Amino acid sequence: MKKIAALLVFILLYHAGIFAQKTYLLIPDRVFDGVQVHEGWAVLVKDSLIIAVGPVTQLPKENAEVITMKGCTLLPGLIEGHSHLYLHPYNETSWNDQVLKESRSYRTARAVVHAKRTLENGFTTVRDLGTEGAMYDDAGLKKSIDDGIIPGPRMLVATRAIVATGSYGVNKGYSADEDFPKGAEEADGHDAIIKAVRTQIGKGADVIKIYADYRWGANGEIQPTFSQEEIALIVETAKSSGRPVAAHAGSPEAIRRAVLGGCETIEHADNCTAEVFQLMKEKDVYFCPTLAATEAIAKYRGWMKGKDADPESVKNKKQSFKTAMEIGVKIIFGGDVGVFPHGDNAREMELMVEYGMKPLDVLRSATSVNATAFHLNNLGQIKTGMLADIIFVEGKPDEQIQSIRKIKLVMKNGKIVVRN
Ligand SMILES: [Zn+2]
Repeated sequence: MKKIAALLVFILLYHAGIFAQKTYLLIPDRVFDGVQVHEGWAVLVKDSLIIAVGPVTQLPKENAEVITMKGCTLLPGLIEGHSHLYLHPYNETSWNDQVLKESRSYRTARAVVHAKRTLENGFTTVRDLGTEGAMYDDAGLKKSIDDGIIPGPRMLVATRAIVATGSYGVNKGYSADEDFPKGAEEADGHDAIIKAVRTQIGKGADVIKIYADYRWGANGEIQPTFSQEEIALIVETAKSSGRPVAAHAGSPEAIRRAVLGGCETIEHADNCTAEVFQLMKEKDVYFCPTLAATEAIAKYRGWMKGKDADPESVKNKKQSFKTAMEIGVKIIFGGDVGVFPHGDNAREMELMVEYGMKPLDVLRSATSVNATAFHLNNLGQIKTGMLADIIFVEGKPDEQIQSIRKIKLVMKNGKIVVRN
């Protein structure tokens, strides 16, 4: 009886793919290890781990399936720093209409497709910064991926995000008599803030996202939302559970409050000054530029890139990116994808180069820098003991960033999920 039970367990596990993993010797022309490029290196993967890295002649080959790809660079699986798998491009459907008219089941169906496209394009991890009205459904999406039900990247999820009452949501131009969806959780003051943070953690949040400013000024201009004390309380509450806080902020005052309040990453920072970037550098706070979202929105409003002059939003973004680079603020890679199509995450990498960053530094941002920023200690580098999230691309993306789109192979957790 026991033998039959053991056999049954074995068959179940076998079909679940537990024993289906094997050993691979991956031989590209060159390896980008998350920091540098090494010509003639190879990588040995066993089960879900990288077990050896180095010159191909020095690696053991026994029992490994050998995959040789001429003309290719091997890199760590890319880490998208700012995604919204529950949003789709605003030129298809406005944010308001997505939040108001699309049911959560519909949005989840889309998110499943978005997750697959993301993975297929080499992005094996995403930090997904809020469902924008789809409650805690990102936590369920993440579990579906982790359980092997659907293909997708590893996810760090924020669930609902936290906003100050009145600052965010479907409200402008609508009747004050009705309560319209907010697209996030409103919380103010001591008790409500603690409750919101802890509720989101309990429902599955890996990171807490706040909106430190928004377009809620008297004339629709961007103004800070939370007080510095409120932000510090959010950070303290999140931190005691080991979770970081990411702050959406564009104005210098909101960024200053977020940084002094203890947030670890600043999203967007469109109008940040040199002085506030200096403060970010001193406090070791990361800047997530989201260049691609700014350009996408400008295009949806009619901007013809290359023909028309840069609109104000793009000018500001270029300026803030330049200032941050000059000051030496740590820059993570995150495009706010969802505003533009999922799977097209590389657009942000191309713009980072266009705005003045070296391709090699962009690759570092999308791998080792993001891993460090997001506390992912076993990802973002090709190194013994790291999880085997690996991609092959044709060409030399450290010289020509566009090569990052030429995906030949994607491996996640030691399993090949794409082979072109
Ligand atoms: Zn966003």
